[in-house]
Amino acid sequence: MSNHDLQSMSVGIEEIYAFTGRPCGWIEVICGSMFSGKTEELIRRLRRAQIAKQKVEIFKPAIDVRYSSKHIVSHSKQRIPSRTVEKAGDILKFAGEAQVFGIDEAQFFDISLVEVAKILAVSGRRVIIAGLDKDYRGVPFEPIPQLLAEAEYITKAHAICMKCGNPANYTQRLSASHERVLLGAKDIYEARCRGCFEAPEL
Ligand code: ZN
Repeated sequence: MSNHDLQSMSVGIEEIYAFTGRPCGWIEVICGSMFSGKTEELIRRLRRAQIAKQKVEIFKPAIDVRYSSKHIVSHSKQRIPSRTVEKAGDILKFAGEAQVFGIDEAQFFDISLVEVAKILAVSGRRVIIAGLDKDYRGVPFEPIPQLLAEAEYITKAHAICMKCGNPANYTQRLSASHERVLLGAKDIYEARCRGCFEAPEL
């Protein structure tokens, strides 16, 4: 089976095990700006795994309680139950027998999330991670760049520029705050294309 075949079909851990004779997991990253549908796509993949009766564990960082502390919630109000963890290493405590791991808002975890994802993948798990790839200045937002280097599969989601309608790859902060982490949604952020994005003066 070629790598292209693996990418073009939905292959579960069981199929890979049957093919190679050894368990093999992998890392998927869904990244992009705010309002690009990252969480919706994460929820879609996790639901498919649940429908297939795979054991799924879902996590989000404790910092993100915008919509719910017990669910991952998309801006479009789709939701799926999740665990809230203080730090990336806590995810390993719930590894158990789960086959699929979903992690949302990965930019709020520190760089140790990369090691956690690698440990899970090498032990045969499918790891699906969603997060912002750039901060409000347009600067790569760790640990997403490092996760992209480790990931087998990458999905770059795009929003639509709220100024001109082109594909948007940047998150424009509308407030003057210079904190890297400033929780909010449409009240303080807009999706912008490259042409309309205005990097803040620091
Ligand atoms: Zn634009």
